[in-house]
Amino acid sequence: MQNAIMDLPQLGMDPGRTYRLGIMGGTFDPIHNGHLVAAEQAYDDLDLDIVVFMPAGSPAFKQGKRIASGEDRYAMTLLATSDNPHFVASRFEIDREGITYTADTLRMLKDYYPPNVELYFITGADAIAEVVRWYDSASIAENATLVGATRPGYNLDKASAAIDSSGIDFHVIYLEVPALAISSSYLRDRVAKGQSLRYLTPDSVTGYLHKHQLYGAKAGKYGR
Ligand code: NAP
Repeated sequence: MQNAIMDLPQLGMDPGRTYRLGIMGGTFDPIHNGHLVAAEQAYDDLDLDIVVFMPAGSPAFKQGKRIASGEDRYAMTLLATSDNPHFVASRFEIDREGITYTADTLRMLKDYYPPNVELYFITGADAIAEVVRWYDSASIAENATLVGATRPGYNLDKASAAIDSSGIDFHVIYLEVPALAISSSYLRDRVAKGQSLRYLTPDSVTGYLHKHQLYGAKAGKYGR
């Protein structure tokens, strides 16, 4: 965990101002341009100081499902975010033992940063719709504002109804992100069929997943 703490950005030094830290939570299996555009839009629209991409180590709702290793998902996230000065990739969750609970992550970040750092947890609106079922969701509401990234036309009724009837005072902001027509499953499918990922994810990510033969990648037209 010490290494993971060391890759977190330093924030909160000036006690006279408030800092806004975006935490981009996801499985990122693999990361794609939809995630990158969503994070950039959150950075702009919510006036964030920095966005930390945090691949989930062992995602709570994906137990028993086949996903790429934390190291591979972290490596692709690092490659995808490396050219943006206000994006950081963190090992914070992949280095943690056991199931990755967002409540634990946010509590640890709250303890680590001074009180003038506000947390914004950004993820897909489909995931936010389930937040009332997450472990210790009351503490999530206390520690962070939730940001649900949606594709245009997404129906927010289910998420709103679940949150409104929870009796918990969640703060939720929704962001409409056209690029979220892209999804990780679409990319995995294309890789398995030997199709191009160009313009769907950075070329460095495509190179990595072919080199490491993830998602059924084969040598060929778009592989090595
Ligand atoms: P998911 O159910 O796989 O994703 C639901 C939808 O949201 C998918 O369409 C997904 O698209 C999209 N999405 C996921 N992360 C996104 C992001 N950062 N920005 C924009 N769209 C995103 O969700 P998940 O990846 O398992 O979990 C998302 C986050 O919620 C993770 O940080 C996870 O740890 C947390 N979570 C916590 C708990 C808990 O504490 N109990 C339970 C569930 C989830 P793509 O497939 O294209 O990403």
